Amino acid sequence: MFSYRHAFHAGSHADILKHLTLIHLVEYLQEKPGALTMIDTHAGAGIYSLKDGFAAVSKEAEGGIFRLLKFIEAGNPCAESVKKYVTLVQAKNMGNELASYPGSPFILAHLLRSQDRLKLFELHPKEIDILRHNVRELAQAKQIDVYAEDSFARLKGLVPPPSRRGLVLIDPSYEDKQDYRYLELALEEALQRFATGCYAIWYPILSRRESAALPDRMKKIAASHTRSWLQAELRVENAPGERRLQASGMFIINPPWTLEKHLAEALPTLTKALGVDAGAQFLLKSFEA
Ligand code: SAM
Repeated sequence: MFSYRHAFHAGSHADILKHLTLIHLVEYLQEKPGALTMIDTHAGAGIYSLKDGFAAVSKEAEGGIFRLLKFIEAGNPCAESVKKYVTLVQAKNMGNELASYPGSPFILAHLLRSQDRLKLFELHPKEIDILRHNVRELAQAKQIDVYAEDSFARLKGLVPPPSRRGLVLIDPSYEDKQDYRYLELALEEALQRFATGCYAIWYPILSRRESAALPDRMKKIAASHTRSWLQAELRVENAPGERRLQASGMFIINPPWTLEKHLAEALPTLTKALGVDAGAQFLLKSFEA
């Protein structure tokens, strides 16, 4: 279970879809002054070097954030929402050269206002140490709690947050196929206690049965709680075999009304910038309860 290290995937096309969506969710939820609690159930290490270590070996950022930067630098038309995401990634770097990539904990920390809280969960014995070290360096460290605990089991105990304004990012690695079942259970339990929370779930698009079934299962869970949802998927290639991840999605329960327009602008840019073959495409669907 502890073979997954997110550094291999830092700055990949899947991170781009996830983090761009996340930024919009936070910004929307922060339009009101009330305190916002953000829960990142699968935090990873927080920030990743793109120059050395696992990311330099996998080179996934070459097909992700570096490819996107080249596309923008070449003067191609680019949606404002994509530019905003890139600006945040660049803010976590010195100068123009991208030496590191901020994971979801660093992106969320960057967006914290003084009244907000961030709760991070990480189970991997090495990742949790790196995460704790990285979080200590942040100016917002006092607003952040780090838990070395199983978030699937803990989530229900953390919702609703005291202010009843909450964003939950659920981003498992899905290496263990039980993750699909645990995710559904955790989501079901959380919705029972906090039906109005905003839940953002990242998922890989794979031929594996559990993966193919997940979006419909999440739609059923949302429907059973009479909740609206939005589904956004980005495929960058459609090649035989699944040696590397070719597509992923975000499923949002209780999406802000602005999210669909935002992604309708961003996804064509991402498909163009990151697509590697004619199979590159996106999907955007929503349902209002
Ligand atoms: N959210 C991160 C980001 O966007 O930068 C990436 C997270 S990575 C996909 C998933 C992480 O969840 C891994 O570091 C893994 O060790 C951790 N993990 C796996 N199962 C967990 C669990 N039950 N509770 C908390 N963390 C878990």
